[in-house]
Amino acid sequence: GVVTRFAPSPTGFLHLGGARTALFNWLFARHHGGTFLLRIEDTDRVRSTQPAIDAILAGMRWLGLDWDGDAVFQFARADRHAEVARAMIANGSAYKCYMTADEITAMRAAAEAAKKPLRIRSPWRDRTDGPADQPYVVRLRAPQEGAVTIDDQVQGSVTVQNAELDDLVLLRSDGTPTYMLAVVVDDHDMGVTHVIRGDDHLNNAFRQLPIYRAMGWPEPTYAHIPLIHGADGAKLSKRHGAVGIEAYRDELGILPEALDNYLLRLGWGHGDAEIIAREDAVRWFDLAAVGKSPSRFDLKKLEHLNGHYIREADDARLATLVADRLAGADVARLTAAMPALKPRAANLNELADGAHFLFATRPLPIDAAAEPLLAGNSPHILAAVHGALDALDGWDTDALEAAVRQVAEAEGVKLGQVAQPLRAALTGRKTSPGIFDVLALLGRQESLGRIADRMA
Ligand code: GLU
Repeated sequence: GVVTRFAPSPTGFLHLGGARTALFNWLFARHHGGTFLLRIEDTDRVRSTQPAIDAILAGMRWLGLDWDGDAVFQFARADRHAEVARAMIANGSAYKCYMTADEITAMRAAAEAAKKPLRIRSPWRDRTDGPADQPYVVRLRAPQEGAVTIDDQVQGSVTVQNAELDDLVLLRSDGTPTYMLAVVVDDHDMGVTHVIRGDDHLNNAFRQLPIYRAMGWPEPTYAHIPLIHGADGAKLSKRHGAVGIEAYRDELGILPEALDNYLLRLGWGHGDAEIIAREDAVRWFDLAAVGKSPSRFDLKKLEHLNGHYIREADDARLATLVADRLAGADVARLTAAMPALKPRAANLNELADGAHFLFATRPLPIDAAAEPLLAGNSPHILAAVHGALDALDGWDTDALEAAVRQVAEAEGVKLGQVAQPLRAALTGRKTSPGIFDVLALLGRQESLGRIADRMA
């Protein structure tokens, strides 16, 4: 069966590109009824941190990208990597290289002088008289003739001449494995059939395949997906705004299903479907429809999708999320208000902002933009509204609407000329949910009190 993996280096938070790579691997595995594995590539002991590991795991859980089995930690497998390097020496596909740092520096200088790229061919490749007590690295005895062709599921067929490839280092002189060796050994041992990752790793595939071949291991199918770029076409980075996905969750108030849908559409398509439910994504996902050119990140599109998912989301769930953003908020009241608040919001911050009036206390602060709505004839109109509403027996939106319309008629003004001062008095804002919903949500006593505060 199909086995995919996501293999982040925990040197920073889970960023958008990584999340999309994880999502594609997850979808491909689920589509084929296969297995999706997680490997933490923590071999860089200086830059790998526990907070970064935690953030990656939390980010994947938040996005609903559940992995099968336990996460594999690469550093813990260093002995196994070294064992494979020794097996490669034994079968002749690797060798001990005793070149010194000075010799390599000289080789680099010679390459620079000849204006050629540095390709390390160690003299030890063909020597068997290595000094027993000297430090050495283990190098791949890379084929020097022919070429490596990768039939990449996204990039198509890509070929590199073997003459252009190094005898790359597999084990450093301190016995630790290099990234190239560790990735191949782990992917093999984990049974990975499909390597789906950013196309910044395409060059590595040409260095990794010879390791599979040297060990006689089955080769994985590769799919190198284009990176995400910013709106200006440059590779996505900090200066384009938030890159870590927790910022989308915490600061920008994006729902995980919206981010998943957005990341899916960023680089993959199914006709012109924009809103793609998770079940459909699993049913439809394939590598053939992954585009070859980099996609551009667009926050407006993400927020558009987010607005859609907010409108679809369960009210109690949204209320819980908004309560975290709104001091003094009450989940039950927020839940009741959600149907009125949801249609207007593109993110959770807007939802919280729209709910603000529910928990404000009298006398309400009035926005500068709402001030003018309370001037002129408004205090008089509000007094009439107060009288009409106070006389009501019930407090349902139908009765409220009828009463407010009657005031407009009696005063000889348009409904808006009553609704606008009423909105300002009740919410302190120029915009809000429908005014009758606002009245109903605030209840009789609070509504009449807020109106009284602004009437003549
Ligand atoms: N650890 C690598 C990275 O985070 C990915 C390696 C791979 O997918 O082969 O870029």
